[in-house]
Amino acid sequence: MITIVPAFGRIGEENAFAVLARAGQLAAEGRDIINLGIGQPDMPTPAHIVEAGIRALRDGHHGYTPAVGILPLREAVSRDLHRRHGVEVSSDSVLIVPGGKVTMFMAILMFGEPGAEILYPDPGFPIYRSMIEFTGATPVPVPIREANGFAFSAQETLSLITERTRLLILNSPANPTGGVTPKAEIDALVAGLAAHPDVAILSDEIYGTMTYDGEAHHSLLRYPEIRERLIYLDGASKTYAMTGWRLGWSVWPKPLYDAARKLAVNAHSCVNAATQWAGVAALDGSQDCVAEMVAEFDRRRALVVEGLNALPNVSCITPKGAFYAFPNVGKTGWKAKALASALLEEAGVATIGGPDFGVHGEGYIRLSYANSSENILRALERMGSFLSERA
Ligand code: PLP
Repeated sequence: MITIVPAFGRIGEENAFAVLARAGQLAAEGRDIINLGIGQPDMPTPAHIVEAGIRALRDGHHGYTPAVGILPLREAVSRDLHRRHGVEVSSDSVLIVPGGKVTMFMAILMFGEPGAEILYPDPGFPIYRSMIEFTGATPVPVPIREANGFAFSAQETLSLITERTRLLILNSPANPTGGVTPKAEIDALVAGLAAHPDVAILSDEIYGTMTYDGEAHHSLLRYPEIRERLIYLDGASKTYAMTGWRLGWSVWPKPLYDAARKLAVNAHSCVNAATQWAGVAALDGSQDCVAEMVAEFDRRRALVVEGLNALPNVSCITPKGAFYAFPNVGKTGWKAKALASALLEEAGVATIGGPDFGVHGEGYIRLSYANSSENILRALERMGSFLSERA
């Protein structure tokens, strides 16, 4: 009998994909399903980006590229980071990867081993914990609290650091809560990290272009004092509606860059060439498409928050970023996962139960408002009827 190594017994996954599959199955059976479960923009990739990908294929970009990515794209990333955050990032520290997840995977592999502790947001993107457990390291959840606007608390985060802590994972704007950690809190966190020089930081800023109500996204790249231990994660999936293209990029401190490059050589060689050229068009082209998408999400956000707060026993704080709402359903009498499942099976509305994002997600469900206003309103109506009948 063949056996695989025990680490695979510890690896998790994203329940969003299981919900997507179940929603698809129900739709195939003829049910009218509204999917507020999946975290991807419902808009197509902007046409000029698609055209650049097609052109690259026609121009013969069919071969391997350097494992770190093509220079024009790495330079475009540097320019983008300068434009958005006012920081100087050398293209020699930029790595092009097949999606944001790959940076996460690499960073956690670099610091995770039995005996090491890795801090990660809870509720948070489920792959953080899954990967930490895969490496044998101890996952240490940093509670992300509604009372704190779903922002990181600098004080609470710092209090969880021990001499075994190797890596701290931050995510703002955040999945699944839509929380944005304000500058003052990040300032305090960075100041506190001075006392912990052996802790590396992975800052997942994949939703960095998506903030609302004038709330500015404040990148960790802006702090020179932590740059030599900061891994910056970003990519095209959300900002340019490119989830299926698989394009991400990261910035690494010098000592880690070569380790990341070697992992790329071992794992995937490079991101497909045409996708990289599409990425150049995305970053160097007009950013109006991003502004339009964010403005559309902003309109839907208002609908979702108003609609959720009108539901019986449901309350929802206004998310300041990303495209998720994370309503508190604790007073409905339902456990969150049971509610998400019943909403899908009985009301035809796909959402994700908060516990799929960590133990501190109990009492909440996640709704993605990357769906049309019409569908959002229909979904809220169905949820209202369901909750009134099944209270
Ligand atoms: N980080 C966060 C917080 C996410 O929510 C996601 C996707 O949902 C990712 C990273 C992964 O992005 P990608 O699809 O580019 O791998």
